[in-house]
Amino acid sequence: MSQKIITNEGFVTKPKDKFAMVHCSCCNRLVPGKVINWPGMSPEKKILWKPCKECGVWLSHAEEDNKSLKGKCLECVEEKEG
Ligand SMILES: [Zn+2]
Ligand SMILES: [Zn+2]
Repeated sequence: MSQKIITNEGFVTKPKDKFAMVHCSCCNRLVPGKVINWPGMSPEKKILWKPCKECGVWLSHAEEDNKSLKGKCLECVEEKEG
């Protein structure tokens, strides 16, 4: 069931989200993310991980930081080289 929020005007609104730098969940670094403002609730922060260019799996920090992987996950790089 999807949650719908109806305002006084009778419009169905989506939560407002904006891009922002948010603190990572695994370390305390600032990473690109999204802040979603639910009406009447505290803002929800989501980290936008980058997907692997090959398989689309979300990259971890270690993989993202490793420039030699060129935006791919370890598994995809190993497959190519091995
Ligand atoms: Zn982290
Ligand atoms: Zn991959």
